[in-house]
Amino acid sequence: MRNALLAILLMLLGACRAVPETISRNPGDTSGMPPIRFLMTFDDGPSSATENNTTAKILDTLARNRWQKGVKAIFFVQTRHPRFGGTAVGQQLMRRMHDEGHLLGIHTATPDGHVSHVRMPLPELDRMLENGIADIFSLTGDVPQYLRPPFWAHNAATVARYEAHGLTLVLDDITLRDGKSNGYTYNMFARTRAQAHLQNVARQIAAGQLPVVSGYIPVIVTLHDPNPTTANDLEAYMGMLIEEAKRAGLQVDRRPFLSSAWEIMAAANARGDRSRHTASIYGRAIH
Ligand SMILES: [Zn+2]
Repeated sequence: MRNALLAILLMLLGACRAVPETISRNPGDTSGMPPIRFLMTFDDGPSSATENNTTAKILDTLARNRWQKGVKAIFFVQTRHPRFGGTAVGQQLMRRMHDEGHLLGIHTATPDGHVSHVRMPLPELDRMLENGIADIFSLTGDVPQYLRPPFWAHNAATVARYEAHGLTLVLDDITLRDGKSNGYTYNMFARTRAQAHLQNVARQIAAGQLPVVSGYIPVIVTLHDPNPTTANDLEAYMGMLIEEAKRAGLQVDRRPFLSSAWEIMAAANARGDRSRHTASIYGRAIH
C-alpha cells in the first residue's frame, strides 16, 4: 500500500514537472515579442542600362516611397560582370549606392558572370574575393564586410575563405524568387511566397530562434535589382511585406525598414553566424 501511494506521489510529481513543457507557445504565437523590421537586400546588379535603369529606379524608391523615407539596403553586387558592375554605368551606380548610405556586399567579382563559389578552386575563390574587395574599395573608399554567394552555394571551405577575408555570409528569411535566370516576368506568386516565408518567420520568432537587435527583430528580404518587375513594383512589394507580416501575427515596427548603415551592420552581424548554420534550410532559393 505504501509502495502504491509512493508510486502515485511520484507520478504526480512527474506530472507537475511535465506541466511547464505543456504550456509552451503555440507555433507562430509571437504575442509579447519585439516588433520586426525588414532589412532589404538586392542581388545580381547593378544594371548597366542607359535608359530606364532598374537599379536607379530602386534607389529612387528606397529614398522616397509611401511607407518610409530613406530606407537603406545591402546591394550584393557583381563588380566585374560585363552586363552589370563591370560597366561604366554599373560603376557609377555602385558609387551612388554608397553616396546614398547603402552598403555594398560581394556577390561575384569575375568577368565570367554569375559563377558558383563552390565550383571554383580555392585559390581562384581567394583571388575573386580579393578582387571584389578591391573593386568596392576603389569605388567607395569602404571595405565591404558582407557576402552572399550566387545560388547560395557555399560549404565549410568557402565560408572559411570568406572569413579569412573578413567577410560575413548573409542569407535571408524572405525571397520572392524574382531573380530566376530563365527570363524576368510578372511575379504572380510574390504574395503567396511572402505569406509562406513570413509564417515561417513567425514560427521561428515564437521559438526564439531569431536574434533581437536594439529592441527589434531584423527580417532579411532578398530581391534582384536588375529585374524590371521588381523595379516597377518595389513600393507595392514593401507594402505587401508589411501587410503580410501583420497577417502572420507579427508586430511591425513603426519604422518597418532599416534606415541606416549602422542598423544594417548590427542586424547583418547578428544574423551572419546564424546564416551559416541554417544554410541547408534556406538553400531552396534561386539567385
Ligand atoms: Zn545572384
